[in-house]
Amino acid sequence: YIQISGLHKTFHTRSGPIQVLKGIDLTVRKGEIFGIIGFSGAGKSTLARCINRLETPDSGSIKVGGVEILNLSKKQLLQERKKIGMIFQTFNLFEAKTVYHNISYPLEISKIPKPEIRKRVLETAELVGLSDKLNAYPGGLSGGQKQRVGIARALVSRPNLLISDEATSALDPQTTLQILDLLKEINRTTGITILMITHELDAIRYTCDRMAVLEDGKIIEVGTVREIFNNPLSRTGALFTKVFT
Ligand code: ATP
Ligand code: MG
Repeated sequence: YIQISGLHKTFHTRSGPIQVLKGIDLTVRKGEIFGIIGFSGAGKSTLARCINRLETPDSGSIKVGGVEILNLSKKQLLQERKKIGMIFQTFNLFEAKTVYHNISYPLEISKIPKPEIRKRVLETAELVGLSDKLNAYPGGLSGGQKQRVGIARALVSRPNLLISDEATSALDPQTTLQILDLLKEINRTTGITILMITHELDAIRYTCDRMAVLEDGKIIEVGTVREIFNNPLSRTGALFTKVFT
């Protein structure tokens, strides 16, 4: 569902250019939960942000659902972005909006009729188990509940792809497990493709079908989770499996 080839991204900073993505090639199949693991600074978030074009790559190709997203008009880009949901470590909720309005936000900016918005918000809140919290504000929620709001907001536009950037990294182990179970359930019932980016190997082992190891801006290993666990070929892969098993 995602096909990336030759992806490069450099940031130009005051102290000079930093090459962050150094030629990424990656294929994620439709309907799978694909994990990307890598140490801090490896370029995981930058890769995630390139896939929905929050960052503009220097070169390469990114196809999402068969559509090349690197040379779209602004209007086409907005259209394609609706097919991609994203969730974050810090939840990124609107603190001054209720749960209902956090979830409805993406639909409101696309000018969908109110009754349709309501229907979809209620449906999505039910899916993530938040039906009784719609009038609450994020400040009154636990971390796990906040991430459920994040997930509902990401899913309310019915995307085909969900990108999770360290979505469970701020949660305790028990809450992490609940959120991972929810993501698995959503993948099973809707068939949505999930790209799970994290430095938590356990989260990948619990959730993913296949995975890749990102090191210093390059994919250095790709395989099934079992393959990489049983026989990590790369230094980073070995280090992760050693540290966390
Ligand atoms: P973490 O696990 O800590 O989230 P990451 O793998 O997500 O790390 P990125 O956030 O993609 O890593 O950052 C990779 C590198 O790119 C880092 O060296 C970072 O400082 C640099 N970088 C990221 N965004 C920018 C930016 N907007 N301007 C300049 N440098 C940036
Ligand atoms: Mg990151």
